Amino acid sequence: MNLVLFGPPGAGKGTQAKVLMETRRLPQLSTGDMLRAAVAAGSALGHEVEDILAKGNLVPDAIVIKIIADRYDRPDCAQGAVFDGFPRTIAQAEALDAMLAARGKKIDRVLELKVDEAILLSRVAQRIKEGTARADDNPETVKNRLNVYRRDTAPLLEYYGKQGKVTTLDGMAPIPDVTRQIAAILDARA
Ligand code: AMP
Repeated sequence: MNLVLFGPPGAGKGTQAKVLMETRRLPQLSTGDMLRAAVAAGSALGHEVEDILAKGNLVPDAIVIKIIADRYDRPDCAQGAVFDGFPRTIAQAEALDAMLAARGKKIDRVLELKVDEAILLSRVAQRIKEGTARADDNPETVKNRLNVYRRDTAPLLEYYGKQGKVTTLDGMAPIPDVTRQIAAILDARA
């Protein structure tokens, strides 16, 4: 099963992807995590993307498409994967569909975590207060990330909607409730 976890930054995609990794053995393919790892490692890719991440802008499509294709071809993705933070543009979604089709696979479901923007900003404020904020978790960058989401990423809902693949969940519900809702959707499919 190949799933896309969809929603704005801070919606809880990573949290739910980790649960799916534990409960369904589906690896979490987070382009954000992979890019941050490249920055931390000081690799050529890391140098190339560091400023883009710090500002909350999107890394060029070709870069993320390549890192996702390389990661997906590792053996642990044989039964599928959970895409977290990818795709973020129509071009990325088209490339993902083509990559999966070439391997006889497809996206089975897109789980949209719907959240209120004011709540996202208050979650960030909380993380800053607790000292658990990421480098790109400052109010300025988060506002930019939300704008980028609205402009470049939200249109994907229509792209996947036309394929009849989107299920919308209340991302403001407590984490265990969201987890239960996702489990119910996946079990109903099985
Ligand atoms: P995330 O952890 O998913 O919030 O991603 C953190 C940052 O990594 C984003 O603000 C972008 O700068 C970059 N990034 C992650 N995924 C993508 C993607 N699919 N396309 C372009 N940039 C990305």
